[in-house]
Amino acid sequence: MDTYLSTETEIPWRRAVLSVDQFSRSDIAELFMLADTLAAMPQKPLAGRTLANLFYEASTRTSSSFFAAMTRLGGTVIPINEVHYSSVSKGETLEDTVRTLECYTDAIVLRHYDNDAAERAVRVCEVPIINAGNGTGEHPTQALLDLYTIAKERRTIDGLTVTMMGDLKHGRTVHSLTKLLRMYDARLRFVSPPELRMPAEYLRDGDEQYDDLDAVIEDSDVLYVTRVQRERMQGGDKAPAFDFDYALTRDDMDRARDDMVLMHPLPRVGEIPTELDSDPRSAYFRQMKYGLYVRMGILAAVLGSI
Ligand code: ASP
Repeated sequence: MDTYLSTETEIPWRRAVLSVDQFSRSDIAELFMLADTLAAMPQKPLAGRTLANLFYEASTRTSSSFFAAMTRLGGTVIPINEVHYSSVSKGETLEDTVRTLECYTDAIVLRHYDNDAAERAVRVCEVPIINAGNGTGEHPTQALLDLYTIAKERRTIDGLTVTMMGDLKHGRTVHSLTKLLRMYDARLRFVSPPELRMPAEYLRDGDEQYDDLDAVIEDSDVLYVTRVQRERMQGGDKAPAFDFDYALTRDDMDRARDDMVLMHPLPRVGEIPTELDSDPRSAYFRQMKYGLYVRMGILAAVLGSI
């Protein structure tokens, strides 16, 4: 059971972004409007403000999109993407590291391998913490950009059938996205090998779980594919292979709806072959661009300028 965030959900998201539980539908609508505005009209409302990017785990998109978002808004970034070159390698605690960074910055984007890391950081830190992934727990800013992508691509969220496929047990993006979609009238379907099922805490009565895509590909409005998170399993990269070959094929896409949206938080490691990249339904590159705008909205709101 994920013990992350019991009381902290009371914290308003403009003060710290820890979990999607902090957002209501109207908060989300407001954030998406802000993202639209900032995407369309370049402004520098964060001139003179500084962000720390503190990443204890690998990142390409999240760290660089927060960096780009902050820079586009006129601010600057202290990037600590490789904590081994910081005092963390000397044994400094997470608490001391965030208390150090709060002396120099106005907000901290934090990714950490422990599920309780963002919560621990918030307890000791005066400046806003933005959770950029806490172990197998949540990835709220990713889920918000995923939802924004669906809204942009389909013009609605209500009424859609969203199928999530892959490592639903360890994937934090699908945990956060599932919680967000519960706020809308969306039908959820989960496809995974039995070992990698969505944890019970995210399931509701009536959720459909499948071993393969066959039964659900034809009427999915959104197909959200994730990789197997081998680094989170015993044995790491050498974790046992699953009897679950879920690489999408051209044949799957031929059976899918013409207006299906194919998404992936990335990195992909074989689940979506590059030959599908040119399919207009493949939205995973557009998803990254949408992410830049959502993260601009989050920074502008959290840093209090808009
Ligand atoms: N980039 C996403 C994350 O940090 C997805 C992944 O790594 O599979 O959770």
